[in-house]
Amino acid sequence: MLLFVVLYILTKKCNFAISNIDLLMKALKDRIKKDGRCFPGGILKVDNFINHQMDPILMKSMAVEFVRRFANTQINKVLTVEASGIAPAIMVGYLLELPVVFAKKRKPSTMENMLVTEVFSFTKNQFYTVCVSKDYLQPGDKVLFIDDFLANGNAGKGMIDLVQQAGAELVGMGFLIEKAFQQGGDILRQTGIRVESLAIIESLDDCQIKIRE
Ligand code: 5GP
Repeated sequence: MLLFVVLYILTKKCNFAISNIDLLMKALKDRIKKDGRCFPGGILKVDNFINHQMDPILMKSMAVEFVRRFANTQINKVLTVEASGIAPAIMVGYLLELPVVFAKKRKPSTMENMLVTEVFSFTKNQFYTVCVSKDYLQPGDKVLFIDDFLANGNAGKGMIDLVQQAGAELVGMGFLIEKAFQQGGDILRQTGIRVESLAIIESLDDCQIKIRE
């Protein structure tokens, strides 16, 4: 009898957890549909809730979902790139109670001991230098990379390079929005790294936002 009661409670809890997750992901998709704007060249603008004005409630929900997806992964540091990755990364770091490091897009003159790599910017169509202090990315670190968008995977490849230079380990990558019509997802997953995206855009053709359900 007790066993049945325990099983009943567990089932109820699981159902609750699953429906909660569904609701979270639906909230993100609905928001993209409502406030997302298409621009030529396959660019999705989400300035209303991620990239300029930020919705901290939605941001927290997304961070909770990353924490759930990477729950079985050993992580001791969250890494991102300035500027748009910082908000989701700090939410994840806050929930996991772990330090958050953001790669800088310019090499500060006051900073020595840097790990440096070059990244091609999808939105600006040019290369930029990205660097992290060796003090904050160290051998043995188990790093979770968080960013806003996954497009061609160039920022992700740059982070793989920085983590390798540091002698650390990249244990996962989490993106708020992946654009599946670009190759970044395939390229990063082929490296064997676990890649998780919360919303996947199938296409922006004719300025119609098609989201994977
Ligand atoms: P990737 O390096 O994967 O080619 O591009 C990812 C980076 O470019 C992200 O850090 C993000 O800032 C920017 N990005 C790529 N595509 C988009 C997009 O459609 N909208 C916005 N707002 N940023 C994008």
